[in-house]
Amino acid sequence: MAKYADSGNISSMAGETVTVRGWVQDTRNLGGISFVTLRDRNSTIQITLPKKKIEPTLFETLTKVSRESVVSVTGEVKESNQTALGVELIPSACEVISEAATPLPLGVVDKVNVEMDTRLNSRFMDLRKPEVRAVFEIRSMATALIHEYMIANGFVNVATPKINAAGAEGGATLFKVDYFGKPAFLAQSPQLFKQMLMSTGLDRVYEIGPAFRAEHSNTTRHVTEFTSWDGEFCWIEKEEDVMDEIEKAVRYIIKGINERCARQLQILGKEAIEVSAEPFPKLTYSECLKIVQAKGLNLADGADLGTDGEKLVGDYMAEKGFPLYFICEYPEEEKPFYIMEKDGTPYSFSFDLDYKGQEISSGGQREHRYDRLLARMEKKGLNPDDFEDYLAAFKFGMPPHGGFGIGIDRFIEKMLDLPNVREAVLFPRDLNRLYP
Ligand code: ATP
Repeated sequence: MAKYADSGNISSMAGETVTVRGWVQDTRNLGGISFVTLRDRNSTIQITLPKKKIEPTLFETLTKVSRESVVSVTGEVKESNQTALGVELIPSACEVISEAATPLPLGVVDKVNVEMDTRLNSRFMDLRKPEVRAVFEIRSMATALIHEYMIANGFVNVATPKINAAGAEGGATLFKVDYFGKPAFLAQSPQLFKQMLMSTGLDRVYEIGPAFRAEHSNTTRHVTEFTSWDGEFCWIEKEEDVMDEIEKAVRYIIKGINERCARQLQILGKEAIEVSAEPFPKLTYSECLKIVQAKGLNLADGADLGTDGEKLVGDYMAEKGFPLYFICEYPEEEKPFYIMEKDGTPYSFSFDLDYKGQEISSGGQREHRYDRLLARMEKKGLNPDDFEDYLAAFKFGMPPHGGFGIGIDRFIEKMLDLPNVREAVLFPRDLNRLYP
C-alpha cells in the first residue's frame, strides 16, 4: 500500500508513489489534459491527468466526480514548476469515498458575495473555505494560550454550573429551563461562583465556559450563547491590579498568535496583530464622556456610553495608536451590585476593556465586606434572601478580590477585524437562529 501524503509534506516526495485524500475542489478539462484540484486541511494538491497516459475509467471517474466529493487518489509525485507546492500527482488509482450531491448549498471557491445568513445556514460548507477555517484555528490557539498564561500565573482552572436556581445577577436576560418540573436558569456568567471560591483558598481561579444571555437585541456584537473567559483573584489592593493582569494576559495571547499562527494570519491578509508598545491607556468614564461630547454625541453625565459612544472613543484612541484601552471609574449606578463603590463619589472601582471601539471585557474590584455588599444589593433592589448561598461565603472570612470576564468571541472578532461577532462563533445562537 502506498504511503499517505498531504499538502503539508508532499513537496518533499517527488519520485514516490503516495495516496492523498481530500475534497475535489475543482476540475478543469482542457482536451488532452485535465487537472483536478484536491483540497485538504492546509492547502491544495494538483492532480494532473494526461488523457493518453491515464487508464480510461480512472480518467473518467476523476474528471466527472462532482465538486466537493471526498476522494482518495494514489499516484506518482512529480516535480512541477507550474504548481504552488512544486509538485503534481499523476494518478494510477482512485476511490470516490463520499460523492457530493449537486447542486452545492454554497460554493467554496466561487468569488461571489454571499449573505452571512446563507453561509451560516450551511456552516459545514462555509468552513471548507480556508479564510473561514483560519478564524477558528486562531481561536483555538487563543484558547490554548489563555490556559498557558493562566496556569503559568498560578490560576486554577475551574468549572462552575451552567444550570442554576433563581437568584442570578439579573432577570432580563435569563433563559428559563424546565429542571425536572422546577424552574431553573442558564448561567449568564460564573460571577457568583468564582467569587464564592475566593473564600476557599483557591484564591486565583479562571474558567473558559459558555455563558447564556437572552439578549433581545439583534446587533453585530450580541449572541445568546458566548464563550466567557473569566478570572478572579484575591489580595488585590485596587482595580488596577486586575487591569494589569488582563493586559499581561492579552499581550501574551496576541504575541503567541503572531508567533504561532503566521499561516492563518496570512490567509486573512494580516502580517501580525497589532498591539501598542506603551501600556494600554486607562481612560476614566468622565474623560470618555468629554471625548464623545466633543465629537458631537450628547450624552448626559452618568449615561451608558452605548455602542455609539464606545465607537467614538475607539476612533479617538485609534488616532493615537491604541487598539486596546481601559475605561475605568464607571458610575456605580451603571455597574452590578458586586462592584465596590468609590466612597464619596458617584463612581465605582470598575472598568471595561475596549478593543477598537467595542467592549470586550468588564471587571473590577469586588465588594468583599459583608455589610457593604448587603447594602449594595438593597440599593439595587435585590432581595438578599435570593443570594443566601453566595452571601454565606462572605460571612465567614472573605479576602479582598477582583476579577474580569472577557468574551472570547468578541476578542477574536476585534482581533481579526471581523464585521460581526457571529463570524467568530462556529454555530452562532441569536434572536433568530437556533440552528444549525
Ligand atoms: P454589552 O453592554 O456590550 O451588552 P455587557 O455589559 O452585557 O455587554 P458583561 O456582562 O460586562 O457585558 O460581560 C462581559 C463580557 O462578556 C463582555 O465584555 C463581552 O465580551 C461578553 N458578552 C456579554 N454579553 C455578550 C453577548 N450577548 N454576546 C457576546 N459577548 C457577550
